[in-house]
Amino acid sequence: MSEQAMIDKEGLRQRYAAERDKRIRTDGNDQYIEIKDQLSHYLQDPYVPVKEREPLNDHVTVAYIGGGFSGLVAGARLVERGITDVRILEKGGDFGGTWYWNRYPGAQCDTAAMVYMPLLEETGHMPSEKYAHAPEILEQCQRIGRKYNLYDNALFHTQVKELRWDEEEKVWRITTDRGDDFTANFVGMGTGPLHVPKLPGIPGIETFKGHSFHTSRWDYEYTGGDPEGAPLEKLGDKRVAIIGTGATAVQCVPHLAKACQSLFVCQRTPSSVDIRDNHDIDPKWFHNIATPGWQMRWIENFTANQTGQPAEEDLVADGWTDISKRVREKISKLPKEDLTIEKMMAAYEDSDFEKMEEIRSRCNSVVEDQETAEHLKAWYQQLCKRPCFHDEYLKSYNEPGCELVDTDGQGVERITEKGVVVGGVEYEVDCIIYASGFEVGTPFERRSGYDTVGKGGMLLSDYWADGMRTKHGVHVHNFPNLFISQATQGANLISNYPHNLTECGNTMAIMVRHALDNGFKELEVTEQAENDWMELLLQAPPMMLGTTECTPGYYNNEGKGWGEGETRAVSYPFGPVAYFKYLNDWRDSGSFEGVEFRQ
Ligand code: NDP
Repeated sequence: MSEQAMIDKEGLRQRYAAERDKRIRTDGNDQYIEIKDQLSHYLQDPYVPVKEREPLNDHVTVAYIGGGFSGLVAGARLVERGITDVRILEKGGDFGGTWYWNRYPGAQCDTAAMVYMPLLEETGHMPSEKYAHAPEILEQCQRIGRKYNLYDNALFHTQVKELRWDEEEKVWRITTDRGDDFTANFVGMGTGPLHVPKLPGIPGIETFKGHSFHTSRWDYEYTGGDPEGAPLEKLGDKRVAIIGTGATAVQCVPHLAKACQSLFVCQRTPSSVDIRDNHDIDPKWFHNIATPGWQMRWIENFTANQTGQPAEEDLVADGWTDISKRVREKISKLPKEDLTIEKMMAAYEDSDFEKMEEIRSRCNSVVEDQETAEHLKAWYQQLCKRPCFHDEYLKSYNEPGCELVDTDGQGVERITEKGVVVGGVEYEVDCIIYASGFEVGTPFERRSGYDTVGKGGMLLSDYWADGMRTKHGVHVHNFPNLFISQATQGANLISNYPHNLTECGNTMAIMVRHALDNGFKELEVTEQAENDWMELLLQAPPMMLGTTECTPGYYNNEGKGWGEGETRAVSYPFGPVAYFKYLNDWRDSGSFEGVEFRQ
């Protein structure tokens, strides 16, 4: 009998629905609490001390908000085109963005480093592993900063308070929490999707008397060890609870499980954890493949294989490309007359059932205690939550001090002075670590920490009150000389986010160069071009991510689904490969159709 025939599809559908239903909550995203006031210590930077400096009141050609991958690649592309007067503003104490903050033990990229780490070819860096660890990625950010002299002008530990278009002078005025008040001809915004930590709104959270921190502000003073993976030696006599079992917890739990006297992993929904199969990169192999243009070839190959427009060869060949490969194989077996949306969706479901059964069976084969193994099984489609890949996570539950505290989908009930309460049982601990993720779905201006005031005093928050409107996800009518660097309304490629950011950086550099060379002071997308782009995008079928049939999480607004505004979180209807080609042609044409350049 075939594997397919043995899968009880209807049984699985019912189990998925039941597991989702018991997790649905009326408060949705409001279950999380904003970190402020007496909780603001959770946001403090444990890594780099804040340096005093004088406020700035000058002018720069380009200001860029955000010193993560997007700011670095845009900065590099601008400098390559001779625009060196670039000032990056960053709330962290160095470049790195996500990789500045997320230094928890075990942090590593889960998209292959060859395609994920930016500007490897330009900086001459060979990733040490197929999936590089966080310190190496942070170093790459610093290497880019040094190579392109982006440190000279950067402002760290600086948060923008307002961005205002000065219509007379045709410049942006930027004010910050460090008292700066300066102007820039052009502004880039690359503030990232997941950067504001959130805490679960568990009753009593403020009463806990022990130590606690969020994973994105890891307290090595308390735990011992370091981001390179040295053992967390100060935890040998500590009882620790970690709340959350998402992609972050999957990476740090193995380190905690080895180090703590007792570790209680508080689980509301298990992650799907497939094989990682990481390995060192062989310098000889790398030397052979790293011929000119190698990184773009790899990036484009990954994007093609991952998004259903396969190249002949699969260079990365990992869990991501495998997801698409399986779906493609299933669809290719359909007779021509069955190539309907319904049949293709059914083929997708079949492929997902097979994959998820495989992933669930790993729990039984890796975890010794079979009751624990059962609780670690994910009962939903693989793309309902961020798919995880890890070879040590499940093994952690074989460590004598590591206990899975499963909450049967209900979450931690209460936090007391002494610990966490689940199912009426109090687990006394010395420390609680919140692996509870980052704000998603809260207003853009709240996450950014500022609003943007465009032409005629128009607030970006008002302009986008009914949802985002852009051309290419980058240009916004009424907001001249502004470039937004992100994926939505462009390629929307989530499996390799930096590919989107690299292209946004290219766009900015090419257009700023064009404006400077031709004496244009102002560039702005026309209302018509923005409308046309939105109309094109809205023809696309709704996104598969974020459906309310999925278990709750940040992909689907905690199970509530997205409102009218979020239906605009769409992508180019012909897929990422076609989008990047279209964008290249649009830029190369030099006419930048839909954008007006004015003297
Ligand atoms: P997530 O938002 O994915 O996970 C938060 C976790 O907290 C979930 O397991 C959630 O459970 C749990 N939780 C929330 N409230 C409670 C509660 N009251 N009681 C118990 N548990 C609770 O955050 P992560 O930091 O793990 O990951 C965020 C994103 O960052 C990922 O999706 C990924 O995009 C990215 N990431 C990428 C990595 C990489 O590329 N290497 C590594 C780490 C993260 P529930 O699922 O039930 O909501």
